[in-house]
Amino acid sequence: MYCPFCRHSDSRVIDSRTSDDGLSIRRRRQCPECGGRFSTTETASLSVTKRSGVTEPFSREKVVLGVKKACQGRPVTDSDLALLAQTVEETIRSTGASQIEANDIGLAILPPLRDLDEVAYLRFASVYQAFESLDDFETAIEQLRAVHGRLPARPVE
Ligand SMILES: [Zn+2]
Repeated sequence: MYCPFCRHSDSRVIDSRTSDDGLSIRRRRQCPECGGRFSTTETASLSVTKRSGVTEPFSREKVVLGVKKACQGRPVTDSDLALLAQTVEETIRSTGASQIEANDIGLAILPPLRDLDEVAYLRFASVYQAFESLDDFETAIEQLRAVHGRLPARPVE
């Protein structure tokens, strides 16, 4: 890490702290040459291998883009989607993996999307899990109903 003031090629870490979301580490550094202090942020790399074999860095923006289509016309806001993408990243990072398949992202999207909007969930699942017939939709809807059955009944308004 070059010193941003004098370009000295070495620096000393004087403090480290983990960010609130636990996804990155912020370090205070000091240059032994000029004494200048600066901060760096380190994030563990997380790469995604696509079906084509191409590897690219994980991107929350791509998660949002992937889900947005399924949410068209649904009462889902941009901040809902940003939160969903954050949940997906935290879920994947919590496994400790540094390299995942694109498929794993789809799997991590399904549970939070189901909680967010069931219609969007069905749309996304139908594409992601390649539903082929009405039976596939019926099975997915039955699974949703089963989840509802386990939840406490909502109070009648
Ligand atoms: Zn320096």
